[in-house]
Amino acid sequence: MRAVQFSKFGGKAAALEHVEVPVPVPVKDQVLVKVEAASVNPVDWKAVQAGLLRLLSIPPKLPYVPGTDIAGEVVGLGPGVTSFAIGDKVSCFTGLKAGGSLAEYAVAPLNTTAKRPENVSALDGASFGIAGQSALQSLRDSGGIKLDGSSKDKNVLITAASGGVGTYAVQLAKLGGAHVTATCGARNVNLIKSLGADEVLDYKTPEGANLQSPSGRKYDVVIHCADYQPFSTFKPQLANNAKVIDLTPTGKTFLATGIQLLTFARQKFVPFLMSGNTNDLALLGNLVSEGKLRTVVDSTFPLSRAEQAWEKQIDGHSTGKVLVTMD
Ligand code: NAP
Repeated sequence: MRAVQFSKFGGKAAALEHVEVPVPVPVKDQVLVKVEAASVNPVDWKAVQAGLLRLLSIPPKLPYVPGTDIAGEVVGLGPGVTSFAIGDKVSCFTGLKAGGSLAEYAVAPLNTTAKRPENVSALDGASFGIAGQSALQSLRDSGGIKLDGSSKDKNVLITAASGGVGTYAVQLAKLGGAHVTATCGARNVNLIKSLGADEVLDYKTPEGANLQSPSGRKYDVVIHCADYQPFSTFKPQLANNAKVIDLTPTGKTFLATGIQLLTFARQKFVPFLMSGNTNDLALLGNLVSEGKLRTVVDSTFPLSRAEQAWEKQIDGHSTGKVLVTMD
């Protein structure tokens, strides 16, 4: 099959190689998926390709086919697999260790694979893995925003709302009933309003840089998707028991979190790490199927031009998701 891999750390898009490799074989608790679409995420290049996760054996060896988020059709079953059938349309998170998504076929674990409703496209399904699940889990599990509309008393700030995570997070927070303030660049203000945000700040203005709500609200939950900012940036804008969920944590986030724990601080900096699971992939698929959630697609590239998708992601200015389709 055709695949795109890298054989050394670093080198960004120029280091991606187009190769022919054997179709992987699904083992116990895995399915083999004929990939229709794969999405690219910041972690793929800035952590995995850069070699920052080497100590965790991510990747376990080189060469490595990167990417974790796919949608496609089940064409093979590992021994004893009965929960999926040949022909099922699925969305999957393959996991950072395994990667494998920039290829015509990929294996995916059962516990991070979900059936995809018929009316949910491959582009949607391939966008759920990291971006969709991160938006969902950061709001619901870390931020305590329920999706049933019962979070009407919550003020939520979402930074970098125009990104892959942010575009889902704005919509999910509104499903929860929260009042949503969002930050993005000037060119995306109308888009983010159309996704449901109540107020939108251009991050290049002084108010945007201060994260100051135009209506003077203090935030109960911040989903911070922009690059690291110290807790002091958020503090003046926070309600008494606020949580700042940091999707881009650094050592300083963990230090601040530790100090807050020791001092019983009421406002908290919470480092976030997404974790793939079938239920959340299925939930996202159902929300899209019911018309309650939509994927914002920045761009799609055929596998033969995957390095352009990589470059687009590295550029850091995509609006929504960057995807690779199998031509
Ligand atoms: P993305 O799609 O690449 O985000 C790009 C968008 O961010 C662009 O539209 C850009 O707008 C906007 N942006 C950049 N800096 C901004 C700022 N200071 N204020 C407002 N908007 C800004 O990224 P993503 O996939 O959404 O991921 C967001 C971050 O979360 C990444 O750093 C990623 O690594 C991290 N993440 C972490 C986890 C975890 O488990 N911890 C999971 C998922 C993602 P302009 O083009 O106008 O500049």
